[in-house]
Amino acid sequence: MPSIAPTGAHLIGGDWVTEGPAGTGVSLDPARPDDPVGEYPLGDAGTAADAVSAAVNARSAWRSLSFGARSRILEQAARLFDERADDLALLCTVEEGKTLAESRGEATLAAETFRYQAAIAKMSSERIFPNNVPGETIRTVRAPLGVVGVITPWNFPILIPAWKLAPALAAGNTVVWKPASDTPLLSVAIAHLLHDAGVPAGVLNLILGPGSMGGAMVADERVDGVTFTGSVPVGQRIRDVVTARNGRVQLELGGHNPCIVFEDADLDLAVAGAVGGAMGATGQKCTATRRVIAVGDIHDELLDRMASAVEALRVGDGREEGTEIGPLVSSGARAEVAEAVDAALGEGAEAVAVNAGTPDGPCYYAPTLFSGSPDLSICRDEVFGPVSTVLRVDADDEAFTLANDTEFGLSASVFTNDLWRIDRAVHELEAGLIKVNAPTTGSEIHAPFGGEKNSSGHAAREQGDTAVDFFTRTRTAYIRPGTSR
Ligand code: NDP
Repeated sequence: MPSIAPTGAHLIGGDWVTEGPAGTGVSLDPARPDDPVGEYPLGDAGTAADAVSAAVNARSAWRSLSFGARSRILEQAARLFDERADDLALLCTVEEGKTLAESRGEATLAAETFRYQAAIAKMSSERIFPNNVPGETIRTVRAPLGVVGVITPWNFPILIPAWKLAPALAAGNTVVWKPASDTPLLSVAIAHLLHDAGVPAGVLNLILGPGSMGGAMVADERVDGVTFTGSVPVGQRIRDVVTARNGRVQLELGGHNPCIVFEDADLDLAVAGAVGGAMGATGQKCTATRRVIAVGDIHDELLDRMASAVEALRVGDGREEGTEIGPLVSSGARAEVAEAVDAALGEGAEAVAVNAGTPDGPCYYAPTLFSGSPDLSICRDEVFGPVSTVLRVDADDEAFTLANDTEFGLSASVFTNDLWRIDRAVHELEAGLIKVNAPTTGSEIHAPFGGEKNSSGHAAREQGDTAVDFFTRTRTAYIRPGTSR
């Protein structure tokens, strides 16, 4: 068991709870599955209810604290994310599989997120409106939502929690956090960090256990809002449950992100961007490049060069120096990717590159590049792994139509130096995140993030100064002076 792994425990009302009630789970290292990372207690619906009760009890004191006091706690959390970045990164790599450089990047951005949201909390978001009644002021104020349920995935196990927890806490909400079962001990390490930063008992509650426990939490009437990142079916189920009881829900779901490479593109940039966007973090990013659309004669050279780049990727244990691509998060995730690749081959896709240096092991999957037609199921369904398909079109119009021909709308990128094409991309691509001469992946923590179509719900964007919108209620106050006695 690696020494960096904390003791697995729920955090409920300020207490670390190391016992069940539903038994014990084991956290596995996808690169070394025979060497478990550690154990953790499995909660159930009762655990979720206890955590919600703790969050309800802590609500009033936390929201009454001054915004300055809450900000100082977030700033301290940012310092601790920086101080503990190496340990958090190692635990992230050990539980999730990504490379140490990728994990460290997450820890650094989590620190930045807490620092940024601490600063945003000090800025007034109130507005004053003119009024027809002399002397009366109309003013909007923001009240915290109340108790917020936070459900996070395993693919960005440091950063996605930070995106959600920092603005939720800054705005005066109390939280029940249900992290993914593939990265439980990292969540415990983050909960410890926030506890050490001064987040009071009951303000942040962490519950470990299966999705059904998360289901019990979202069904709890005392939870005012739920922010969720993960798969489409689970997200849609959560939306239905929460909206049926008039709660607020924020969803970040899947993507099928296109990258258009036009004939005038800088090919060096395009090859690096398309391969990095498709294969980075082992293709387990919701913004990963799933389809590369080559316009006209650039297709053949682009395909050849992308194939060489995919074959040259160094796949291995994320802890080892020089590794560019780690294993998939679990053997189950690998089985899903393998099934999708077999289906693509059965439908007539041509595998133009399969990384031959990929190690054996239950969680490794060789980065694979396909050439094929947009009708392949792999070009419609999100396959969460190091797999991408190059498609050829003859003209710009066809490229834009094909890029938008998906139920998803998370991210998109174009490679071109033509201002007209850039303008068209920014206005016509149906995606929440549009990149020009850069991969479909990657975003800055101070700019809004979110998708369109089936990639997101209709709630406010995450990150940036819009993050607070989801976590607050706007109230409009009409304030008329009374008469003096
Ligand atoms: P899930 O949607 O199953 O899980 C995401 C989170 O939701 C986890 O914490 C999970 O817990 C929890 N959860 C699962 N079922 C419920 C439920 N009924 N009620 C409340 N919470 C629940 O995603 P997976 O991790 O299983 O990944 C499956 C697919 O989802 C991927 O292949 C990919 O397509 C997509 N995905 C998208 C991500 C994104 O960033 N948009 C991130 C990760 C995955 P538990 O882990 O215990 O099941």
